[in-house]
Amino acid sequence: MRHEIKVNKAKSSRINEVDFNNLAFGKEFSDHMFIADYSNGEWSNYRIEPMANIAFHPATSAFHYGQAIFEGLKAQKDKDGNVLVFRPDMNAKRMDISANRMGMPSLPEGLFLQAIEELIKLDASWVPTDANSSLYIRPFMIATDEYVGIRESEHYKFIIFTCPVGAYYSAPVNVYVSEEYIRAFPGGVGFAKCAGNYAASLYPLRFAKQEGYDQILWLDGIEKKYFQECGTMNVFFMIDNVLVTPPLDEGTILAGITRDSVITLAKEMGIKVEERNISVEEFLQAHKENRIQDAFGAGTAATIAPIKIVGYRHTKYELPDIETRTVSTAIKAKMNQIKNGDDAQKSAWVMKIDASEHVPV
Ligand SMILES: *Cc1c(COP(=O)(O)O)cnc(C)c1O
Repeated sequence: MRHEIKVNKAKSSRINEVDFNNLAFGKEFSDHMFIADYSNGEWSNYRIEPMANIAFHPATSAFHYGQAIFEGLKAQKDKDGNVLVFRPDMNAKRMDISANRMGMPSLPEGLFLQAIEELIKLDASWVPTDANSSLYIRPFMIATDEYVGIRESEHYKFIIFTCPVGAYYSAPVNVYVSEEYIRAFPGGVGFAKCAGNYAASLYPLRFAKQEGYDQILWLDGIEKKYFQECGTMNVFFMIDNVLVTPPLDEGTILAGITRDSVITLAKEMGIKVEERNISVEEFLQAHKENRIQDAFGAGTAATIAPIKIVGYRHTKYELPDIETRTVSTAIKAKMNQIKNGDDAQKSAWVMKIDASEHVPV
């Protein structure tokens, strides 16, 4: 089903103000944004407007009680200048899962994808052509009741904006195993991309950063033994030629689309994959015996981020030289091919947007 989306174009483009050869992550914004409103039990008023500030009442519910969820996905250009969005149907489904957990409404069927398509058609010239850059797409939903009191909001906004971005990490990452702070518990909200999860990670991360680490490697909250995720990435270890990643079944781990892609591609490359718990003890033992061949974080922003050091109880465990990381390197190369439209067999993983009719504003 196609939805009616009204378009109010920006009077002039800001694109010439942006240095596409020096893109930071998340600091530049394209010309337009998509907005939808929810009230009286339904979504309406679909529109694309010039990217601009929005005024909110101080009692806006999202600010106080945190009904706020988001998604993150990327688009790139193929050789012919079409825009390719990587697995957006998966983000649409996950947004619905997050919304449901946070007591927020589902979006109408097809709106998520159509809104991305129309927004990107309009801002296609913002999609970088450089291989290491992409257009980051940020859909989010917030509760907008002007009301002080904890209840499910009756009003929401669903908004999408986009940012041309460069690389997220420029070097391999160092992660610190936190025993003091826990990200997620069974029955909690670890599997939801809700704003509060990220707020809660910032204080622990401050101390890890002071010690030279980039991210926290989170442990389970019950036994404090098993790895969950590193920062906002799913975590993978290659031990004895088996690619191991923690399972999703407890609801403590965010079901990453990069994670799913890594598992699928690794299996297709003939690599054995196991979704199972990995304990700190197993890691330490395997490290001692030099059986860890590779380790990396997987997420949309960084794609595949090799892990160089795991810090635990103030000891730094160094992992093999990055040059020897055949698994993460091969998977990353494959992912890039798919994202650029150079892999016909995985063309179902990209949503192609024909931007040829596009007339710059
Ligand atoms: C977004 C996110 C990921 C990665 O998910 P992708 O779909 O691969 O981008 C992993 N962990 C957390 C906590 C996240 O928020």
